[in-house]
Amino acid sequence: MSKRVMNPAARITAVALATAGLGATLVAGAGSAFAAEGKAVTAPAALTASAAVAAQADAQAHVAAQVKAAVAKAAAVKATPVKAVKKASPAWVKPVASYALSASFNQGGAMWAHKHSGQDFAVPIGTPVHAAAAGTVVKAGPYGGGDGPAYGNAIVIKHGNGTYSQYAHLSKIKVSIGQKVGAGQQIALSGNTGNSSGPHLHFEIRTTPNYGSAVNPMAFLRAHGVGV
Ligand SMILES: [Zn+2]
Repeated sequence: MSKRVMNPAARITAVALATAGLGATLVAGAGSAFAAEGKAVTAPAALTASAAVAAQADAQAHVAAQVKAAVAKAAAVKATPVKAVKKASPAWVKPVASYALSASFNQGGAMWAHKHSGQDFAVPIGTPVHAAAAGTVVKAGPYGGGDGPAYGNAIVIKHGNGTYSQYAHLSKIKVSIGQKVGAGQQIALSGNTGNSSGPHLHFEIRTTPNYGSAVNPMAFLRAHGVGV
């Protein structure tokens, strides 16, 4: 039994050691667990934080890109209608859609007391004649609307900036004095009235409403982007 008495002491020590060992193991285990847990918590937190920063940077870059795209899109949208409007209503257009050029500006000849004051567009009688630009009708009627019988039925439109356009030898006038017209608006039908050698539109660009102030209409139209 004495052996057994001794033994329990040894056994207690052994148990104590074993307990200590177990405790150490437990502590170590807890430490490991803690470390693992700490690492598990800390690392993802760090990852999360850096990921969040990266995500935020990404988001900011994305937002910046979106803003940039939106601004570009807005600019494009803003630019498009301006272009469309410009395309839909150009400042200057041809007075007749299709024609053959006949007598030109400053051309001499028996037809004119002085040099030819405009450009002739040979077109069949009844061809629609269009205002070459927006403006206000200041002359419309027979005898060149007051400029003389050689012009036959004629129209003069005031465009501003000291520019007027004149349309002569018309068969039918479709506008009246004081009327506002748009570029390309039909104002008359072409004809062969007045001192005319054949059906055509006589077209002038003037610096006043009156005869004698004409400039080269083809050079003027071309300078204003009209392909005549
Ligand atoms: Zn003419």
